[in-house]
Amino acid sequence: MKKAKLIVISGPSGVGKGTIIKNLLKSEKHKLAISMTTRPIREGEKHGVHYYFVTKNEFIENIKNNNFIEYAEVYKGIYYGTLKSEVERTLKNNINVILEIDIEGALNIKKIYKDAILIFIEPPSIEELEKRLRERKTEQEDKIIERINKAHYELKMKDKYDYIVINDNVEKATKEIENIIENETKEKVK
Ligand code: 5GP
Repeated sequence: MKKAKLIVISGPSGVGKGTIIKNLLKSEKHKLAISMTTRPIREGEKHGVHYYFVTKNEFIENIKNNNFIEYAEVYKGIYYGTLKSEVERTLKNNINVILEIDIEGALNIKKIYKDAILIFIEPPSIEELEKRLRERKTEQEDKIIERINKAHYELKMKDKYDYIVINDNVEKATKEIENIIENETKEKVK
């Protein structure tokens, strides 16, 4: 029997992870684990769909109760964490779990789940990324600058991932990731 795996997808803010993951989720072979965050909710986002949006105190409560597999302060004062419940339930049903988390989270996951597949989505260029971030208009200027600075750091760390996929075309990048998952979760003939 095929064994379901954790598929970790990272990449700089604005690289198009959201669209790629939305495409991947059209297949019933994988399910997204919804993270918990203290970030303010954006227009169009829904609690329990995009994230579980909580206060800092609620987040701390979840840390104390040991509810996270990993968590990180991704941006200054803003926390994000992967919930055990989200991951374990899906793996138990033998369905791949997609995690859309940052590099710190990705490396922590690999320590716990040795066969997790780490995929980094790279922008065609840093200029293109900056353009996308500004056009999307979801963040104030200071937050955009924080995200661009983090992007420079993330790009330096990309070699820590098992696969690097360049998103110069969403359909092509989605197909490439689907092929990686297919190959990695294929039943191995002994
Ligand atoms: P955004 O605020 O744009 O939704 O996400 C910001 C960053 O937080 C992204 O790089 C995303 O990968 C990361 N992130 C989202 N959820 C988690 C999580 O549960 N754990 C960690 N470590 N990072 C996360």
